[in-house]
This record gives sequence, structure tokens and C-alpha cells, in this order.
Amino acid sequence: MVRKAFQRSQCSRGHELAGDNVYIYKRGGRACRACQRLHQRNYKQRHPVQTGTMSEEVAARVMSALQNGETLNRICRKVRGERLTYRHRYLNYCAAHPEYARVANELLARNTELLRPKVAGCAGART
Ligand SMILES: [Zn+2]
Repeated sequence: MVRKAFQRSQCSRGHELAGDNVYIYKRGGRACRACQRLHQRNYKQRHPVQTGTMSEEVAARVMSALQNGETLNRICRKVRGERLTYRHRYLNYCAAHPEYARVANELLARNTELLRPKVAGCAGART
């Protein structure tokens, strides 16, 4: 005979497993909401909002890469152990420089469009 799972009245951290503090999974099983909040807080602490921006010099290099038909994925990719910039730095820079962002977005849209058909010289394309 299968015994019904013992329902604990406290979670492993000692929170009361009752009332509003109980989260019930759709597939059954219970979880402690207080612990879920803790996990969430820990996650946010481990993954802070990414700050940092690009220097004017890096911004200029990104812009010329865009003018050469590069996409953001390729600009932010590590090449021979070096990386021009990170996506979040680019985005932070764009947020602070609307005019730069406008031009960059136009180029990005164009470059993405260019990649759709087979483009000679595209790194991923096989001929
Ligand atoms: Zn708990």
C-alpha cells in the first residue's frame, strides 16, 4: 500500500508550510513561497543589471564595423581571444547616445537584411 506523502508543516529552512506561504505546483507537490523569494533575490544578486558602456574609441570601431556590414552578434563575438565590446555595453551606450543609436540601428537593420540571402564572404556561408 502506498502511503500518502508525508506533508511537512515546515520547509527545510523552517518556514511555516501553510496558507499563503504554500505554492502548489500544477503537477502536484508543494513549495515554500518564502524560499522561492529567497532564490529569486539570490538570483538577482548573482545577476546584477549589467552596467558599463563603450569608450568613444570602441564606439567608433563598432560604428565602422557596422558600416562594413557586421551584425551585433558578430561584433560582440570573441575573435582570437579579444572582444570589441559586449552587447550590454553597446546597448547602454546607445541608450545614452540617441543619435548614435539611430544610425547604428539603421545599419544593423540593413546588415541583417543583407545576411538573409546568401552573401559572399559571410563567415558562416559555405560555397
Ligand atoms: Zn522556506
